[in-house]
Amino acid sequence: MVDVLVVVNEREAVLSRNTLEVLGAARRLADGTQGKVKAAVLGDRVEGLAAGLFAGGADQAVWVEDPLLPDPRPETVVAALAEVVPRVAVHVVLMADDSCGREVAPRLAHRLQAGLVTEVLGVGAEAGAVRFRRQRYGGRCIIEIEATRFPVIGTVKPRSMEPAASRAGARGEEVQMTIRLDPGLFPTRVLNKVAEEVRGVKLENARVIVSGGRGLKGPEPFRQLEELAQVLRGAVGATRAATDAGWVPLSWQVGQTGKSVSPELYIAVGISGAIQHLAGMTGSKTIVAINTDADAPIFKVAHLGIVGDFKAVLSPFTAKLKALAES
Ligand SMILES: Cc1cc2nc3c(=O)[nH]c(=O)nc-3n(C[C@H](O)[C@H](O)[C@H](O)COP(=O)(O)OP(=O)(O)OC[C@H]3O[C@@H](n4cnc5c(N)ncnc54)[C@H](O)[C@@H]3O)c2cc1C
Repeated sequence: MVDVLVVVNEREAVLSRNTLEVLGAARRLADGTQGKVKAAVLGDRVEGLAAGLFAGGADQAVWVEDPLLPDPRPETVVAALAEVVPRVAVHVVLMADDSCGREVAPRLAHRLQAGLVTEVLGVGAEAGAVRFRRQRYGGRCIIEIEATRFPVIGTVKPRSMEPAASRAGARGEEVQMTIRLDPGLFPTRVLNKVAEEVRGVKLENARVIVSGGRGLKGPEPFRQLEELAQVLRGAVGATRAATDAGWVPLSWQVGQTGKSVSPELYIAVGISGAIQHLAGMTGSKTIVAINTDADAPIFKVAHLGIVGDFKAVLSPFTAKLKALAES
């Protein structure tokens, strides 16, 4: 029997796709072993959230209360989970491989002397052994890892697993867990929070993504990408080269250390197709590449390619689409 704890890092009644995918992974793992899925929500009870957790695959919702948790930071989340995990007594802890999960999971594994597998693409149990799948060598191969230390913590790579079939109306158990974190243990405190302005569709939910790379040679051409994305009701993404250069926000980065996306259409403009970028977007249904270099690796994964300068291609393409949309 494998019991699984899912860490829920959100405060909305409607669960995000990332959480539903982690719950789906946990449900399948538990089902195969007659185990249970518990979901820990850090912070006060949110009306409607329990119903979403049960529909998404949880058997139990654990509301973890502490005055520091309504405004969580990685260090408070680590400290809270270091108390919660031993108390819920599970074999596996799963969380999304997002910016919070990436910060929390290694620190938590160290605190609990637990096992750790990051960027999990698949997890299952066979004959009592829990096995994870993840990429190795920047995506050049897939390896299978067997957990030898429990609990074991896994961060689930977004868009690598499907949510469980919704169990609308499913019921489960709700448990209140009060912990007491010592505020004196945290060396920093949050003075101010500034929410990033998201215009249009969020990258991770977009059905169309227009992404730009170093080939754009500066921030200005990203306006053209935004214009195209707007016509296609999509979002704009970028390579690490573009985010590192400060041309666009870090949150636009797609790839191994950025976001994993799997839209219907991914248009890669001035992107070479480095393995770390491909790791985040090869799940896209149709990939279109615009690049001056016919030998760029992006053309190996592209379904349609234009060998040419984006400056000559983008404007007429956007104008044509606009005309089609208006006709
Ligand atoms: C540990 C690690 C993690 C990483 N994680 C990520 C990640 O998550 N995401 C990510 O993207 N990268 C990541 N990288 C970086 C990655 O290795 C590449 O350096 C990066 O993806 C390259 O970005 P690029 O394609 O924009 O730039 P380049 O590789 O420089 O490619 C630019 C392309 O633009 C083309 N071009 C030039 N001019 C034009 C023009 N006028 N019109 C059309 N095309 C043109 C060129 O032919 C070229 O193919 C990571 C690297 C490491 C080491």
